[in-house]
Amino acid sequence: MRLYLLTLRRSDYGYDTYDGFVICAKNEEGARRLFLEQKLCADECTGYLSSAAKHQCIWADPERSECRLLGNAAKDVIAGIILASFRAG
Ligand SMILES: [Zn+2]
Repeated sequence: MRLYLLTLRRSDYGYDTYDGFVICAKNEEGARRLFLEQKLCADECTGYLSSAAKHQCIWADPERSECRLLGNAAKDVIAGIILASFRAG
């Protein structure tokens, strides 16, 4: 397992948004897939959508978010989000 830093490529999404995560996953694809599978996103993804609109996830999109490999995780670290940075309103 590896540790990844996932951050927004733009910083102007406003409040009630996540602007970064540290994630433990097998690879970048696995780190990004967490958000599609677990619906963890806040207003950075869903704030401007009607409830019927399709969720185009920022965290799954390399054009809008950057995923940087930080290094190998210790053997006992469980896959998932290690730390989240949230900008409350
Ligand atoms: Zn999303």
